[in-house]
Amino acid sequence: MVDSLRLPVYLDHAATTPVAPAVLAAMQPFFSDVFANPAAAHAAGLEAREAVETSRETLARLIGADPEEITFTSGGTESDNLALKGVARAVLGERRHVLVSAIEHHAVLDAARALSAEGFDVETLPVTAEGIVEPEAVADRISARTALVSVMHANNEVGTVEPISEIGRICREAGVPFHVDAVQTFGRAPLDVRASFVDLASVSGHKLYGPKGIGALYVRRGVRLVPCQDGGEQERGRRAGTLNVPGIVGLAVAAEAACAEREAESARLATLRDRLMAALLANVPGCRISGSRRQRLPNNVHVCIEGVEGEPVLLALDAAGVFASAGSACSAGSTEPSHVLIAMGLGRNLARGALRLTLGKDTDAAAVEYAAEAVAHAVTEVRGMAATGS
Ligand code: PLP
Repeated sequence: MVDSLRLPVYLDHAATTPVAPAVLAAMQPFFSDVFANPAAAHAAGLEAREAVETSRETLARLIGADPEEITFTSGGTESDNLALKGVARAVLGERRHVLVSAIEHHAVLDAARALSAEGFDVETLPVTAEGIVEPEAVADRISARTALVSVMHANNEVGTVEPISEIGRICREAGVPFHVDAVQTFGRAPLDVRASFVDLASVSGHKLYGPKGIGALYVRRGVRLVPCQDGGEQERGRRAGTLNVPGIVGLAVAAEAACAEREAESARLATLRDRLMAALLANVPGCRISGSRRQRLPNNVHVCIEGVEGEPVLLALDAAGVFASAGSACSAGSTEPSHVLIAMGLGRNLARGALRLTLGKDTDAAAVEYAAEAVAHAVTEVRGMAATGS
């Protein structure tokens, strides 16, 4: 056991992160002091509006966009829905084909399913065994009928980072809008929407030490998009509803800090990630790393463990004070193996033994060492129970 260990060890930063103290402090005045509706014409409204516009400028600058290309939403799920449905429904004529990768978050996959029910022809892009969407797969399928392509920047389960610039170039040359779900990468990996030929990008506050319930969608100037929610002219008519001013301020402050710290923090996390992977491979028999070793988020460890179910392992880890997950937080409780792992070609049995450990600001060497030991114990315990039938 290591001296500096602090329990519990939270290794579920891909699911959500705590709000950073500086973010909370920046948000505070906008709950009760500067509380006016930013759409109001009076001076109090103007003060709130200025905070919103400053935040919009910050976000735009961080991804290489212009402020008017940023639309605030309630989070990643809404941004994904607005991108897919908003663009597909705005396209007229023959463009009824939508291309999405097989490993997208359910916010994209379910929005695509809704479009399919509206008569769109939704096609799924395959991935390699490492979870990579190959640009050639996009090139092979894109056509004059394609309304939109959606490929995530990095996968939320296995952490594989996708070649979005190459895919973006193919889409731009074909004149097809390209949406990128950047929820897991914003603040963790560089994103320059112009350099990567991205037309729409989704981000979310709570994955980068900002508040929950706030996000944004970048929409490149000139991309047609119909609103998905009726009720007001906010956000240039793109997204009706009174703006969440404290959330918007919090998102911008969190994003600014995450991007400023990104390089140093990514290097620190990648070292810890590699140490954790090595410890798991050395101490847990039948443990296999999922996803790409090279093109991987610096904070993601994902393994599949032969002969065990993820659920009892997670319970044993919980009891030992290690908070992890089997995959996407949205699929917690589901007994079905992850669609991401199945798309990567893993067998259903192996996919059931999935374990995701995602590191963050508060993760240190002691935490990683403890977690590796705890996983080894948990797996031994679960295998023992299975062997004795208890
Ligand atoms: N997209 C990805 C890749 C995610 O990981 C998540 C959250 O888990 C979402 C979208 C949804 O974001 P939010 O929780 O802000 O709705």
